[in-house]
Amino acid sequence: MLRESEGDVTARRVLVRGTIQGVGFRPFIYRLARRCGLSGWVRNAGDGVEIHVEGASTGVVAFLEAVASEAPPAADVAHLDSEAAVLEGTPSFQIISSKRGSRLTVRLSPDLCVCDACRAEMNDPADRRAGYPYINCTNCGPRYSIIRRLPYDRPFTTMADWKMCADCTREYLDPLDRRFHAQPTACPVCGPSYDIRSEGAREGAAVVEAADRLRNGEILAVKGIGGYHLACDAQNVEAVKALRERKFRKEKPFALMVRDLATVDGLVKMVPDARRLLESAARPIVLMPARRELPGVAPGIDDLGIMLPYTPLHHLLFDAGAPSILVMTSANRSSEPIAYEDDEAFEQLAEMADAFLVGERPIARRVDDSVAQIGPLGPTILRRSRGYAPSPAAVLPAGGPVLAVGADLKNAVTLVVDGEAFVSQHIGDLEHYGALTAFQETVEDLLSMYGVPAADLRVAHDVHPQYISTLEALEIGSDRISVQHHRAHVASVLAEHGAFEERVLGIALDGTGYGDDGAVWGGEFFLGSLKEGFTRIAHLREARLPGGDAAARHPVQAASGFLADLDNLPDLEAAPFEFPDRYRAACELLDKDVRVFRTTSFGRLFDTAAALCGFTRSITYEGQAAIWLEQLARRSEINEGYPFPELDFRPLLEALITDRTHGRRVEDIARAFHLGLAKGLAERAEAACEREAPAAIVLSGGVFQNRILLGELVQAFGDVRPVWTNHAVPCNDGGISLGQAAVASFAS
Ligand code: ZN
Ligand code: ZN
Ligand code: FE
Repeated sequence: MLRESEGDVTARRVLVRGTIQGVGFRPFIYRLARRCGLSGWVRNAGDGVEIHVEGASTGVVAFLEAVASEAPPAADVAHLDSEAAVLEGTPSFQIISSKRGSRLTVRLSPDLCVCDACRAEMNDPADRRAGYPYINCTNCGPRYSIIRRLPYDRPFTTMADWKMCADCTREYLDPLDRRFHAQPTACPVCGPSYDIRSEGAREGAAVVEAADRLRNGEILAVKGIGGYHLACDAQNVEAVKALRERKFRKEKPFALMVRDLATVDGLVKMVPDARRLLESAARPIVLMPARRELPGVAPGIDDLGIMLPYTPLHHLLFDAGAPSILVMTSANRSSEPIAYEDDEAFEQLAEMADAFLVGERPIARRVDDSVAQIGPLGPTILRRSRGYAPSPAAVLPAGGPVLAVGADLKNAVTLVVDGEAFVSQHIGDLEHYGALTAFQETVEDLLSMYGVPAADLRVAHDVHPQYISTLEALEIGSDRISVQHHRAHVASVLAEHGAFEERVLGIALDGTGYGDDGAVWGGEFFLGSLKEGFTRIAHLREARLPGGDAAARHPVQAASGFLADLDNLPDLEAAPFEFPDRYRAACELLDKDVRVFRTTSFGRLFDTAAALCGFTRSITYEGQAAIWLEQLARRSEINEGYPFPELDFRPLLEALITDRTHGRRVEDIARAFHLGLAKGLAERAEAACEREAPAAIVLSGGVFQNRILLGELVQAFGDVRPVWTNHAVPCNDGGISLGQAAVASFAS
């Protein structure tokens, strides 16, 4: 006879879901069950971790309480269901092999930085892993970047080719060991190693040689977690210059890896939120205001992007005497995706690197470094990748699985399975062939990892008929929905906030998005909710834009369209404006009405103001002119803005031009522009709020990376209106796929 209890002995079956595979969860359960005097088993199941416990009912109660409250630091228990079960009479507690589930909706762990315990062993000369660059344990190390498929077991990772030695096997099988079931565990005897590859490389001691070379000003390609970096001494001006030349990267800031917090402190102003982000297991690049300039690292920018070492190898490099501030930039040709396969790296980087520091463990997929900053509303992510992907960024009440393919710039894709929105790593700009390949691989990857057949998918894409992502979406599945770009921006914030029914006022400001009317939108006010949809209720006064998207690269070209609407325009080719020839060429396009588009883009309005303030050349990276203008404004303390009534840019630009003609400081002009925009936006929003009483004001779109504008708006709304913006996904186009997924989840 099957029984659920005998005397005081009861049995329970527990199903746990969350980020629990690959973070030491099963070993934790094992130790916990033994502590509570229970027998039974634990195994990875398709939809989480399944546990069977039996024993004294007090023990079972204590066990259930501790499962959530004492879980390992990297684990995130989202759901815990338990029910009475039939006694199995198991003699002890065991970890048993994984169940092949029907669908693998388990949350997969992102890559984690090396933990303190592993670092201590690595630094202990007596430890058998002293100086070993691939040290890891159940609390730390690579996950997403080594997984070939689920469930997370060694044969399905890039460690499959290394057979564990007797010592590693013993640890792996010992439930009381920190490496119990640590899938990537390895040691110098049995595991992969690092090597230097270059002319005249010395045998062995690869890390020491690499550190020497960095000290001597060489540029090294270093294999990391999710791809190769190019590294050099950030305080060696010649090395930094050489890196820019070899990488064809003129001005875009380089990220830095800094030895320790004390060194970071000397380099930038670090608020507590920034420090927490820097030290978090995700180890993102954090943008912080510089205390001193490092020539060539971030030309014309007052911020530095800094990360702490996150792999054992990084720590070993610094300990071996590498310069304490390193440039650590994704190894690729300008704007192509990061190189992650060895052959590809050797081929692409041969001209750029003086030597290669190559690890043997393969990388299963590209994962760039993530980038974050501390905004007026707290930490926000600007590029969501290593350390975050593929964690879910939101929970959505989707019926079936949804795939959202994002936008063409800063592409990332989102897969919704059983209501969880898994956002991929940053993929890049799809116009580059390499990024397009990465896009296809990532879609393939997510679908196969989560066991979703393409035929079951609802596919969400942008309304832009010529977006590459749109064309790709047309190849996948048959149930498709198109989502307007700026509605997707607003929806991404609502998805993050779990606000499905709340009616909000959404303000989406960015560079480019295809509008309902085919115009280039980018300054839009919406009213509505995820459930009912969003109605456009206001927008920036429409301007003309000669050359369409090409104008985004040339501020004076964007300016020509906005300025054509103004009366009494001075000669902009004369001082102090000195617009180059391109301006006249753009004016001719306007006159002939050839390739002229209509636009409400705030990005182009920023470009116009930047051109009038002196940024008259072409940009060398996306958003450069607007970033330049924000930097100028940060050096001013005036508090009077230009008029911007009813989102009409004409009075704003007229005031700007008058000030500039009269020789006012450009720093003050730039700030008056920012303050004017914020005041005008806030007034327009208040007018809408009086009529409609929305639950919150939602701000999204790449323009909100601008901390002055966001800060002023937050202040303007004060405590009267809740202001929501993005935190878990970028407010730039990196967050579009989450917004598309949210809209698709509600569309019938
Ligand atoms: Zn560890
Ligand atoms: Zn070993
Ligand atoms: Fe956008």
